[in-house]
Formats: sequence, C-alpha cells, structure tokens
Amino acid sequence: MGNDVYQIERVLQADVCSGCGGCGAATQGAITIPLSAVGMYTPQLDGVSDSDLEKADQVCPFSNATVNESEIGQQRHTSAQHSDSRIGRYHSLWAGRIESEKDIIGSSSGGLTTWIAKRLLSEGKVDGVIHVGPSDVTRNGRLIEYRVSRTVESLIESRKSNYYPTSFSEVLNDLSLDSGERYAFVGLPCQCTSIRHLQKLDDRWNEAIPYVLGIVCGHLKSARYAESLAWQLDIEPSDLSSIDFRVKDPSRSARGYGLRVEGIDGRSAESEANKLVGGNWGHASFQPNACNYCDDIFAESADVCLGDAWLPKYESNWRGTNVVIIRHPEIADLLSRGRDAGEVWIEELSADEVASTQDGNFRHRRVGLSVRAADDAKESLWRPIKRVNAKLDGIPENRIRVTRARRRLGDASHKLFADARSRGNLEVYISGIRPLVVEYEQAARQSFLERMRPKVERRLWKYWNAAVTTGSRIIPSRRSRR
Ligand SMILES: Cc1cc2nc3c(=O)[nH]c(=O)nc-3n(C[C@H](O)[C@H](O)[C@H](O)COP(=O)(O)OP(=O)(O)OC[C@H]3O[C@@H](n4cnc5c(N)ncnc54)[C@H](O)[C@@H]3O)c2cc1C
Repeated sequence: MGNDVYQIERVLQADVCSGCGGCGAATQGAITIPLSAVGMYTPQLDGVSDSDLEKADQVCPFSNATVNESEIGQQRHTSAQHSDSRIGRYHSLWAGRIESEKDIIGSSSGGLTTWIAKRLLSEGKVDGVIHVGPSDVTRNGRLIEYRVSRTVESLIESRKSNYYPTSFSEVLNDLSLDSGERYAFVGLPCQCTSIRHLQKLDDRWNEAIPYVLGIVCGHLKSARYAESLAWQLDIEPSDLSSIDFRVKDPSRSARGYGLRVEGIDGRSAESEANKLVGGNWGHASFQPNACNYCDDIFAESADVCLGDAWLPKYESNWRGTNVVIIRHPEIADLLSRGRDAGEVWIEELSADEVASTQDGNFRHRRVGLSVRAADDAKESLWRPIKRVNAKLDGIPENRIRVTRARRRLGDASHKLFADARSRGNLEVYISGIRPLVVEYEQAARQSFLERMRPKVERRLWKYWNAAVTTGSRIIPSRRSRR
C-alpha cells in the first residue's frame, strides 16, 4: 500500500524484536515466529502480504506506529485514580505474599501472581489462564513455553519465573475467538503491551482476555542463558531437560535464590545463581537487544503488575515478597477478600517505595536508555521511539561507562556462546566474556561509590552535628574505648 518499509521490517533489521508473539497472533499465523540460532523468537516475514505487515506494525511493542504505555494506561485504566511516571496509573500499591508455607516455596516470589490467577479461575471469572510453564524439550526443543491452564492443578505446575524466551502467538492462534471463552493472560511488560494493541486491532480479543496480569521485567534472556548456566554445572546444552531458575532456601535471603538443572539422563545439579558466570543480572548476559529499548518496568498496560519487593525490610525473608501494582478494581477486591480470608498478607507501600524496589532496573531502563538512544542517534541508527529522550547531559560519566560496558557484555555473550556451542567448548565463552565482566565490574564499582558518596556524607554530617550539639566526641577517645 505504498509503504516501502514497514515498521516490523525496521524492527527486525535493527534487531529490536523481543519475540513476544503479537505479530503472529494478529496475522493468524501468517507470520511465523521460530526460535533463531541465538535462541530468540524471531518473526519470519518472507511471503507475508502487505495487509498482514500492516497488522504487525499495529501490534508490535517496538513499532513506532503504536501508542505508548502511558496512553494505553490512560485509555484502559480509567478507574485507577493515581498516576506516576515511574509506575504508570494505579489504584493501590502493596507488598504481599501468600500465607501458605507449603505453596510459597513453589513460587518465585510472594506467590501472588499464581494466587490471583487461581482465584480468577476458581471464581469462574475466566475459563483458562494463558501463561508460561515447562515444556518437553525432546518434543520441540523448548524448555519453557506458553500454554493454557484450565485447572488449578495445571496452574500450579507452571509457577515461577522463567528467564527464557517465550512467544504467545501459537497458543493464541489455537484459541477459538467465537467460543465465548474468557482467559486471563500473564506476561512480561512487552507481551502485555502487545496484547493491548491486539485488543485494539480486533475487539474480540477484549472479550476473550478480560484480565491481563503483568510481571516486572529487568530484561529477558535468550534460550542460551539457561544452557550457559547448566553447562557450568556440567550439563551440556543438548542434555538439558529442565531448569528451575528460582529455588528458595530457608537458610538464605530472598535474593540468594538457587538454580537447579536436570539433564535428559536424570542427572541434576544446583548452585546459587549469582555465583555462576552470567548469573549476575547487572551483566545483562544473553539479553536480547530489544530490552535495550524498553522503558516499561511495571507492565503499565496490565491490570495488575507483580514483581519482587527488593527492599531491605523484605529481602531477609527467604519466602519472597511481591510488589503489587493494582489498576483494576476487581483485582483490588480479590486481594482484599484474600486478606480477610487469611490467604494473603499485604501491606500498603508508597509510590517511592514501589519505585525503589527496582532501583537498578530504573538505572538500566530509563537512564541507560537515554545513553543508548544518544549513542544510536550519533550513528544515525533507526530506533523505537520510547518515552525516554536521547541525551547524555546530566548523566554522570561513570553511569555512562556502566551502560556502555553492559551493552558490550550483553552483545558479546550471544556471539561467544554461539562459538562455544559450535566448538563444544564452554571455555571459549568463559574466557571470552571474562575481560568484559572485569570492565563492567570496574565501571559499576565507580558508579556505586559515586552514588553512595552523598549518602555517606549526609550521614557523617548528621553525626557531626549531633556530636557538636551534645558535646560528645565523634571518635571515642582511647580512654573511653578501653
Ligand atoms: C524474564 C523475567 C525478568 C524479570 N525481572 C524482574 C526484575 O527485574 N525485578 C522484579 O522485581 N521482578 C522480575 N521478574 C518477576 C519476578 O521474577 C517474579 O516473576 C514475580 O515477582 C512474580 O512472582 P510470583 O511469586 O508472584 O509468581 P509465581 O506465582 O511464581 O508465578 C509466576 C508467573 O509468571 C509466569 N511466567 C514465568 N516466566 C515467564 C516468562 N518468561 N514470560 C511470561 N510469563 C512468565 C508464570 O507462567 C506464572 O504464571 C522477572 C521475571 C521474568 C520472567
């Protein structure tokens, strides 16, 4: 239709597709989305008609032909009376977890994502939940995939965060939109946004998906992330059959979660995730390039968003605690009934507390995006237009260094691991990535010290003032120390 380059083509050329599945669903499978050689879902556009490419442009979360999450929030969440540029629109903000000791061990964090989905199902508000769970790798080469759970038992089998690529197009294309069935959808921020665009394109998706549950995302991982961790535990990529990214341990804090992998031959191994190369989230190893352009931390398009409440007051509890952003009155009601029934514990949080659960995420996705966009603009590269401006002004030099070092590390991880895999030698990846980890860690340490300096100075100043007022010594004299 006279449009020589479609947005979806630009997205693929610039390698900024997250593989969400929206274009496959909008085109009823005319666009297929197989797993690529680097382990990311990648749409195939060969032979796709102009009208289908136009549909793809209207649903892709990285297309410049769609509205952003702020506008989606304004149109959708009209009853959510509060708004915050970091969080989006909201009805109320909470920290919480399920009360059952038996159940909480099987969830990533506070278990409220599955609890809400379970209640929507058991109260008959939906006929099924579209979410992510383990898959039979010997069947289709995927460890994890989207599925529809129609029973509580099936929901329970598919808990926990999977740091693994997922694409919802096949599952959505298998649903009959004329059946009158209703579903809750659980997904990452980009996937939730894509569902909202799909609902705008075809109103039947509004009927079919009345609830969208979003999970906080720091960044996604390619399928090679799981393989790289398992290989370090002596399970080779071709032998890996299952992975649990979030093993809880009552002797550790919530942050100190473990990783368990199992091989096709039944062998298993476990380790603390952040002790493995790439296990530190700051490194952004195996991060798709798309995540370099995402500014949506709290799944602003979703009716509710759940993440980890990374605040000191909750971290010491090994069970895990959710941060919860509610944008839909029915979900607010569900949660308060759960509290009254003694099934969940919740306590209200301020917007500042909610934002600070994701401090690092904001540095990566908002400040970092300014830097990356400025770097791209300098090279005149096409990029998805997000709500963050391209600029370096006002950003500390050390933060710019961290952002660039992380980007180099993430990019290199894909290439180095592909090389290691083809040569059957893990050391190719480990020795190649090490200098980039060192470079990143040095920059991150400098940036951390710079961030901490004003806090330390403020605290010292406070002590100094208190000492002057009370006439006491700041450093006790030798005699009083004895
Ligand atoms: C890739 C990724 C990155 C994340 N980054 C952060 C972060 O930076 N900060 C933070 O606070 N939280 C992050 N989370 C979310 C966090 O790990 C927990 O998933 C969230 O706190 C919900 O915990 P829960 O106990 O309520 O979930 P559970 O009750 O265990 O349920 C988890 C739900 O998430 C679904 N799910 C799991 N993996 C995926 C996936 N790959 N794609 C779509 N749906 C999935 C499951 O199907 C299940 O319905 C991330 C999750 C993922 C998958």
